[in-house]
Amino acid sequence: MIILLMGAPGSGKGVQGQKLIDCFGLVRISTGDMLREQISQKTEIGLRAKYDMDRGLLVPDELIVELLRLRIAMPDCKQGFILDGFPRSILQAQALTEQGVVPDHIVYLDVSEAVIVQRICGRLTHVASGRVYHEIFNPPKVAGRDDLTGEMLERRKDDNEVSVRQRLKVFEQQTRPVIDYYRAQKTALIHFINGENDKEVVGNQIYRALV
Ligand code: ADP
Repeated sequence: MIILLMGAPGSGKGVQGQKLIDCFGLVRISTGDMLREQISQKTEIGLRAKYDMDRGLLVPDELIVELLRLRIAMPDCKQGFILDGFPRSILQAQALTEQGVVPDHIVYLDVSEAVIVQRICGRLTHVASGRVYHEIFNPPKVAGRDDLTGEMLERRKDDNEVSVRQRLKVFEQQTRPVIDYYRAQKTALIHFINGENDKEVVGNQIYRALV
């Protein structure tokens, strides 16, 4: 099964993606996490991506398309996967189609701009796993520490109000049209979920939509 998780930054894709791993035993692929990994390893791709990521812009399509192509060719993707943060443009969606990747389900998490800004500004991330928390709405058991490993949580450099407003603009212009692309393809079931509800409620709604 191939699932695309779509929604603006801070709409809950990371949290819900983690839940889906447990429910369906699929791997979760987050292109944001992959890029941050490249940055922390100081690779050439990482250096190139950092420039755009720090500015709340998308990294170039050809760079991310190639990175993703290599990732989904790996053996753990044979049974399917959950894509979080890809495709983020029509060109990326077309590249997936050309690679023969046809999603079964698209889960679209709908959240208003005001809620997104609140969420992003208190977000804490466990960089190694991609697990996300919020200082107030989803606090870790021990302040500043990941629940599973006890490692320190970090605030992403792009998790500030200026960057999030820019990312929202990019989302509207470049990512939202991807839904229309898949609507026209008529291959995937598209589920619109109110992402403002409690994360357990959202998780249950997604689960019911997928089974
Ligand atoms: P968020 O959804 O909160 O913005 P992500 O971790 O998914 O966070 O992405 C962070 C940044 O990584 C984006 O702002 C963008 O610069 C880059 N990025 C991630 N995925 C893609 C993609 N598919 N295409 C282009 N840029 C991407």
